Amino acid sequence: MSQHFNPDQSTAKDQRPTGSQCAAKSGGNIVSLVIALSAIVVFVASAGSVLPELMRSGHLQSTGSEFLLTNALLLNIALILLGWDRYKALSTELELRRESEEEARRQAGLDDLTACLNRRSFVARMEAWLESSKFEQQIATIAIDIDNFKQVNDLNGHAAGDSVLREVSSRIAALLPDNSCIARLGGDEFICAVPFTGSAEDHLNPVLGRMVETVARPVLYKDAAIEISVSIGVSTSLQATDADIDMRAQSMMHKADIAMYHAKKHGKNRYCWFEMAMENDLRFRNELEAGIRRGIHNGEFVPYYEQQIDLDTGEIVGFEMLARWESPDMGLVGPDIFIPIAEEIGVISVMSERLIVAAFEDAKKWHPSITLSVNISPVQMRDPWFAQKILKMLLKHRFPAHRLEIEITETCLHENLGMVRSMITSLRNQGVRVSLDDFGTGYASISQLRSLPFDRLKIDRSFIGELGAEEHGDQLVNAIVSMSNGLKLPITAEGIENAEVLSALKQWSNMKGQGYHYGRPEPASQVLTRLEAIGLLAVGEPKSSNRGNEGAMESASNRILDSDVRAG
Ligand code: C2E
Ligand code: CA
Ligand code: CA
Repeated sequence: MSQHFNPDQSTAKDQRPTGSQCAAKSGGNIVSLVIALSAIVVFVASAGSVLPELMRSGHLQSTGSEFLLTNALLLNIALILLGWDRYKALSTELELRRESEEEARRQAGLDDLTACLNRRSFVARMEAWLESSKFEQQIATIAIDIDNFKQVNDLNGHAAGDSVLREVSSRIAALLPDNSCIARLGGDEFICAVPFTGSAEDHLNPVLGRMVETVARPVLYKDAAIEISVSIGVSTSLQATDADIDMRAQSMMHKADIAMYHAKKHGKNRYCWFEMAMENDLRFRNELEAGIRRGIHNGEFVPYYEQQIDLDTGEIVGFEMLARWESPDMGLVGPDIFIPIAEEIGVISVMSERLIVAAFEDAKKWHPSITLSVNISPVQMRDPWFAQKILKMLLKHRFPAHRLEIEITETCLHENLGMVRSMITSLRNQGVRVSLDDFGTGYASISQLRSLPFDRLKIDRSFIGELGAEEHGDQLVNAIVSMSNGLKLPITAEGIENAEVLSALKQWSNMKGQGYHYGRPEPASQVLTRLEAIGLLAVGEPKSSNRGNEGAMESASNRILDSDVRAG
């Protein structure tokens, strides 16, 4: 084994300070304190009887016994002062000693809290090893991150968090093969380097499995048993081919980190080996994030519209706005790609608000009887001001509240049911309608449906698609229709793809429907052409152009808005 992996140098548990000198000093400190305290006790016990007697005699040195008492008293006071002075001096010395030990450890490249290596000394050790031409083994880097560590701190306090970090580091260190090393990179991030020969997976999989399992045992802190788990990513020196040694060390650590994030993304409490595809995914993901931010700034996100039809009359009664990204690099991108990322990086609200404003402006050109549905992310529903924001947008853009329908999914109901209820109530008080989207794919209970004042249920297309073809498909939809009749909730059927499905739906009445059978989602200009053909543009909307005469249309919406606000 290479000198660079001498266990005496590298294993964290061997680098912990012994503390025997500290113990001796603090012992002396305690003796001084005990002397001072005993002297105080003696003083308090004796002075109560001695002092009055001395006072009565009028002076402090009259008789022999009084003389002795006086001397004992003075001696007692001197002892108190001496003991206290010594205690203070020793305390200061101990503090200085602690600080200089900490500094020595820092200089020795150790982490204060866990006595693991720190980042600097870990990197230096990796580089030294990679440089060593004598060393014929490969090395694996293992990146370890505690899952939801912030929650541990928030729920149990930082002292408990520190205790968890110490415990995790010693559990991992105990499992590492000889000649390995462990470092804390900061926060709850650890990294290990393990030399191996032969197959990396054969060598390390048993260790990694034990790490995941051992660390997941609760950490006892005071009266609490703190539940934790870790996500682990592993890369090997075979995967880092950089010519520069320092680049190679950094690259191995980076790859282990990517694999660790992969483990987090796929459910946490597990380990993952680095693969090249992960790096490509990450690069693509980073580019997407940057593209989304840029796209919002450049107005590349635009509303498309899908027709909503009254199935009894076959007439267009509304449009659902569906976001599209007109990306200069990727062309037209669907919301399934960018909405989850926009939610994760915290830009969903700004993106959605801009789309809704654009949709208000588009819908003001349609006949005022035509409604506009917009999808709202669960992330937006966490904002306590969400209902007020919608109201403000309606007023600012002079869009009548009764033409707007908000679609929320069942996922929103798992979060803060009380807040969702008050939000739905305040939106409805303003005249906005609220639908439960994708019904049947989540876990909305009948009691939630009863207690939340929805205006409509949208049956998910997975149920509608089976109509006509599968017998149980009809039965399932029939059950949903009966339930919603009982709850007095009208229904929209999503995903009507063909005439068979549509005719199967005709067995129920009073339904709205939408789907590719009526047309794909289309941009605002095509909606205008469609509506123009059937005479459903707003009064005053010019036939051949989408521009001009906005005054007449606005005053029509204003009248509706005014009556709406009065009704609210
Ligand atoms: P959704 O609300 O369930 O929207 C309906 C989706 O079904 C749309 O996909 C639509 O194009 C598609 N669809 C419509 N008819 C049919 C059909 O007959 N067959 C099939 N197979 N699919 C059909 P799209 O536009 O890709 O939207 C996907 C999801 O993205 C939407 O599902 C909605 O949840 C979300 N989304 C779209 N725009 C927004 C937005 O502005 N904000 C938020 N938060 N989510 C949005
Ligand atoms: Ca929807
Ligand atoms: Ca839906």
